[in-house]
Amino acid sequence: MSNCLFCSIIAGDIPADVVARTEHSLAFRDIDPQAPVHVLVVPLQHSADVSELSADHEATGQLMADAASVARELGLAPQGDQSGFRLVLNTGAGAGQSVFHTHVHILGGRDFLWPPG
Ligand code: 5GP
Ligand code: ZN
Repeated sequence: MSNCLFCSIIAGDIPADVVARTEHSLAFRDIDPQAPVHVLVVPLQHSADVSELSADHEATGQLMADAASVARELGLAPQGDQSGFRLVLNTGAGAGQSVFHTHVHILGGRDFLWPPG
């Protein structure tokens, strides 16, 4: 989609620190990391958010599987009480979404408190 930042990154028109590429998605480091590991996983095919993407159950499942797989490759697989990761999908401006191409945030490398302060 023209005028979409993440479509431009997928097309290679805007550089990104790519960590993984699959048949369905691209994973690259967030430009403004909120944790020691902060990677975005984006479907190659444009959709605005997971609400729109979810019309395609297979694509939605693929995105989650790819995100978990990338997290494991980054060494974030949970081991007992240690490590682990958080997957976040901000959906809609009111929920903090700022780029309207579906993306999963992988956050890891620090402890996460819930609920947030
Ligand atoms: P959202 O706020 O939509 O859930 O997440 C968008 C994310 O994209 C933010 O965490 C932001 O830091 C990241 N971001 C914005 N512009 C760029 C960019 O040009 N390159 C990369 N790698 N990340 C970006
Ligand atoms: Zn896009």
